Amino acid sequence: MRKGIAVSPGVTIGTAYCIHEVFVDPDRSLLESHEIPAETARFENARKRSIDDVRALHQKVEGQIGKEAAAVFAVHESILRDTTLIGKVHSWIQDDRLTAQAALAKLIEYYRGLLDRSRDDYLRERLADIRDVVERLTSYLSAALHKGSGVLSGPIIVVADELLPSQVVMLGDKPVHGIVTQAGSQTSHAAIVARSRGIPAVSGVAGVLRQTKTGDTVIVDGREGHVIINPDGEILAAYRKLEREFFNLRDELAHNRDQQPATKDGERLQLLANINGASDARSAAAMGAAGIGLYRTEYLYLTHASVPGEEEQLETYREVIQASPNQSVTIRTLDIGGDKTVPFLGRGQQEANPFMGWRSIRLSFEHPNFFLTQIRAILRSAAAGEDSPQPHVEMLFPMVTNLEELRRLRAIVRRAQQQLAAEKQPYGNVAFGMMLEVPAAAVMIDQLLPAVDFVSIGSNDLVQYLMAADRDNPKVSHLCQPLSPAVIRVLRSVVAACNAAGKPVTLCGEMAGQPQAFVVLLGMGLRRFSMSPAFIPTIKELTAQLTIPIAEDLLRKAEHQKTTKRIRSLLTAELLQLAPNLKPILMQ
Ligand code: PEP
Ligand code: MG
Repeated sequence: MRKGIAVSPGVTIGTAYCIHEVFVDPDRSLLESHEIPAETARFENARKRSIDDVRALHQKVEGQIGKEAAAVFAVHESILRDTTLIGKVHSWIQDDRLTAQAALAKLIEYYRGLLDRSRDDYLRERLADIRDVVERLTSYLSAALHKGSGVLSGPIIVVADELLPSQVVMLGDKPVHGIVTQAGSQTSHAAIVARSRGIPAVSGVAGVLRQTKTGDTVIVDGREGHVIINPDGEILAAYRKLEREFFNLRDELAHNRDQQPATKDGERLQLLANINGASDARSAAAMGAAGIGLYRTEYLYLTHASVPGEEEQLETYREVIQASPNQSVTIRTLDIGGDKTVPFLGRGQQEANPFMGWRSIRLSFEHPNFFLTQIRAILRSAAAGEDSPQPHVEMLFPMVTNLEELRRLRAIVRRAQQQLAAEKQPYGNVAFGMMLEVPAAAVMIDQLLPAVDFVSIGSNDLVQYLMAADRDNPKVSHLCQPLSPAVIRVLRSVVAACNAAGKPVTLCGEMAGQPQAFVVLLGMGLRRFSMSPAFIPTIKELTAQLTIPIAEDLLRKAEHQKTTKRIRSLLTAELLQLAPNLKPILMQ
């Protein structure tokens, strides 16, 4: 059994399909001088065919999934046309007499040396893009590659170091039942896609590629975050039962799509979706979300080679709004910095503590034109159409720390409104909200509330800042726990303050979709939750089996426990009794 991080719930069993590095052993023999022109031509041919490929993929993905998902292929095309990068390959073929494959292997080594040690997720993702491009080039240079998944039958468990963007798209054609990756953070491509498609997944499983061969039987337990390779008969039988229960439950829950989420005693809840773009908004609607509680706009920027302009942003926001008809859509302004950067808004120098550094609105404030453009695009997206009413759009600002920032943000929004009015550009009213994710803001919530229309609690960050434990570092994950007594106490006071002031409050961190945490939040008086669309059917089902007094009682009981472990096991035991049909999804 290998331990990792649970990134998408459920239990599944299948046959491993290992995606290894393609350059395990390139041909290192040197070219003869007369072979060099032909080798250069072979490489150029592969490059041309790869460019055709990524262009076709760009169109296909744009049509089927949406613009933001397709943008990655524009990045790939720019890599294939990058003169520095291509120049290196040419020079290694021509001057160092390497074969094209060996030159590409060297290219990967070169960029790995530059980028892999970076603590910056964005740079590491660019390495993934370069590898993706190189894999494509290599497939044209060597017909022997790309064998593998075709010969497997039945459910496949993809085992990879990390999934490359194009591989994620290709998974759509294969019966992928589970995903296991060595690299791991909740924000990796693999985690986001797995969650949005409801595929059980475990990340951060060190060394799993070395311990697994294609064809092995693999159990993925996405509730507990572990993986079992070639289990014995008894374990296999036990997990087969859990797997069956999980799939049955998922199919069963899909039917609650059109039901209003309400507790047994009639309290209505709003279950909203966290999305990264229009395609997620469509799956949110399919899962029965009541609207979009958190649209993380940074995805639009992360996959973009340059700053997206106002019109392009507007078009993307409109696409999301159209995918969520008659529902509220909360658009969060850019939240980069920390572990995510984009090249056109560079941080300049490396920071010692990026999560506590130049991040989110702190960074946006220093790019005023860019910030204004995004705010203008959001305001314009809220304009009524010729024959459509004004959509319900909310604007959400991440990482708010104090009142001065809120005043400054209001002033920028006012300025954008004045500009648009002067230009006779239609725009709509949007609610003005803050993410509550910095402990200082939680402490001062009573002073901040009069300055905002609504609050959205970002528990992923609030927990990491409160516990002083990096949310992406597995070494401190035992501390970075939303069910710790300190977190519960702080959340309770924030929810109480918002409710007392009559300000709408939502929680949009990962804990909203975790049954044990959800019930505690419900007990605190929270009624709006935003989560990955895949969690909505389960939480809706759980809601229907609870009453408010039960949730309040569970919160009280949890508050009597002194350790996170006791709180978690108490809640799990209680929930298993209250909603035994959810057992396949409840984590222990
Ligand atoms: C959060 O911090 O809880 C949140 C929802 O935002 P993100 O995960 O994008 O930081
Ligand atoms: Mg956050």
